[in-house]
Amino acid sequence: MKMNVKPIPTLSERINEIRNSTAEIVNKEILPNENQLWAWRTNGSLTDSDRREAHDLRENIKATVKEAGLWAPHLPPEYGGCGLSFLEHAYMNEVLAYAAGAAALFGVVAPNSGNQKILLKYGTDEQKKKWLVPLTEGRMESAFSMTEPDQPGSDPRSIKTLARRDGDDWVINGHKWFTSNGKRADFFIVMCRTEDPDAPAERNGAMTQIIVPSDTPGVNIIRGVPVWGRSSDHCEIKYEDVRVPVTNALGREGSGHEAAQERLGAGRVYHCMNSVGQMWRAFDLMVERSMVREVHGGLLETKQFIQGFIAESYIDIQAARLMTIHTAEKMESNVDPRTDISAIKIFVPAAYTRVVDRAIQVWGAAGVSGDLPLAEMYLGARTLRLADGPDEVHKILIAKNILKQYHSGEGWDFGN
Ligand SMILES: Cc1cc2nc3c(=O)[nH]c(=O)nc-3n(C[C@H](O)[C@H](O)[C@H](O)COP(=O)(O)OP(=O)(O)OC[C@H]3O[C@@H](n4cnc5c(N)ncnc54)[C@H](O)[C@@H]3O)c2cc1C
Repeated sequence: MKMNVKPIPTLSERINEIRNSTAEIVNKEILPNENQLWAWRTNGSLTDSDRREAHDLRENIKATVKEAGLWAPHLPPEYGGCGLSFLEHAYMNEVLAYAAGAAALFGVVAPNSGNQKILLKYGTDEQKKKWLVPLTEGRMESAFSMTEPDQPGSDPRSIKTLARRDGDDWVINGHKWFTSNGKRADFFIVMCRTEDPDAPAERNGAMTQIIVPSDTPGVNIIRGVPVWGRSSDHCEIKYEDVRVPVTNALGREGSGHEAAQERLGAGRVYHCMNSVGQMWRAFDLMVERSMVREVHGGLLETKQFIQGFIAESYIDIQAARLMTIHTAEKMESNVDPRTDISAIKIFVPAAYTRVVDRAIQVWGAAGVSGDLPLAEMYLGARTLRLADGPDEVHKILIAKNILKQYHSGEGWDFGN
């Protein structure tokens, strides 16, 4: 089924145009070719000609996206992007994400896209020339290396990877894991402690992001850590006496924590919009199936259990979508969005998990097969509940912000 995207009367003409042209590409170019586009990931017996055809198809779609002026929505035009505002991009994402993998065909590939944004904001002219330009032109790959096996990622200020100044160099020692895209990366943005590693963990100013080219001696990729029982490119890496020039620090010394929070904050909203798009797809699949599958003398759609699935999923999607849009609007205003970002980071992946779970149930065995995108979605939704900050940490943040407001003598203003 095609994604049903019509203009939203309360939105600007520009956002409606973006959603509409994105939906046109998703519906006409991507959905009908979905199995062929990404077959190399699941089908090990593809011939060279199958692979070439799929590659050509992907390149043709990318060309159509560029022609439609929708390429790299997260980047300004001077870096080859279409320069969308945060809200425009967020609205585009819910449409894009309807088709699994579509973001890559629109020039948004994590973690490169997050690294591009960070380089754009914190990079010097020299760093932009050396790393950002090739990254935006697709001539380089990158990774973001923060989480460590021996420290809790949910408290990023506890990292132990140390960068010590030695003349005009940083010398980095540390152990990271879950560095996504690690094997393909030409450079890593490594979160390092640039102060005493035994200093109190709550010091934000102790962290600096440093650019490390992957061919620097001492960058030792140990393995891709298997995820959900499959091999992956989320790498375990040891940085052993890695020496890079001091000019590879990204932003001022001590700005690493702030930059990471900024990156993750925006990323969480985009992830939630993506989740809404995927829920939308799972919902369409579930309803469609219920209309044709006959069991025990009647179509599934006539069974009240299944009607309950449909109604509950509708409520989950509406709630998730409206909360996410509200947060995206705050990102563009002067209102502090942090409490809402934490709220959607908890609610949306959980709602996404519920919706996909019901869709899988309705489809039966086919639901967990590789013939449908539901199984992948289910794993992705579950992972989101811990990546980018686990639920518990976000609950603590929400309560902290709310209590602070009440202690200051004001109640919570749910209207703003
Ligand atoms: C697929 C995938 C890709 C990733 N990609 C990257 C990447 O590219 N770069 C990178 O640096 N990292 C990456 N990560 C790592 C991710 O950001 C961390 O896994 C996440 O921040 C959680 O850290 P942790 O795994 O160390 O869990 P821990 O910090 O050990 O937390 C474990 C659990 O403890 C509980 N918990 C934590 N704090 C509290 C508390 N205060 N109260 C009660 N319970 C609590 C939560 O349930 C949490 O899930 C990725 C992870 C995954 C799964």
